[in-house]
Amino acid sequence: MLNCQGHERRLLQGTGVFVVKLVLIVLLLVIVFGIGTLARVFFRMLPGSRPNASRGLDGRSPSSSRFGNEEKVERMLACSVCGVHVPESEGIEAAGRFFCCEAHRK
Ligand SMILES: [Zn+2]
Repeated sequence: MLNCQGHERRLLQGTGVFVVKLVLIVLLLVIVFGIGTLARVFFRMLPGSRPNASRGLDGRSPSSSRFGNEEKVERMLACSVCGVHVPESEGIEAAGRFFCCEAHRK
């Protein structure tokens, strides 16, 4: 019985410490999240950071970069045999015609 009681006490102490740790972790997360939110609000209010914020809101620069990427995107060519569209590098070009695979080239 004494051993059992001691074990129970230890368990209770253990759970108590666990709860305290959990509360501390939650508090830490809340503080970090709160600071992060406050920092974001603070930096938005700064006049120097306005161009960056407006860029993010407008989304013009990301779209313009997308246009830049489109040029880099590979051309999709239709196979002369089956008509399947395949990236230029993945297909085979022969005698001015494009084929999706080696088998269709023959
Ligand atoms: Zn094909």
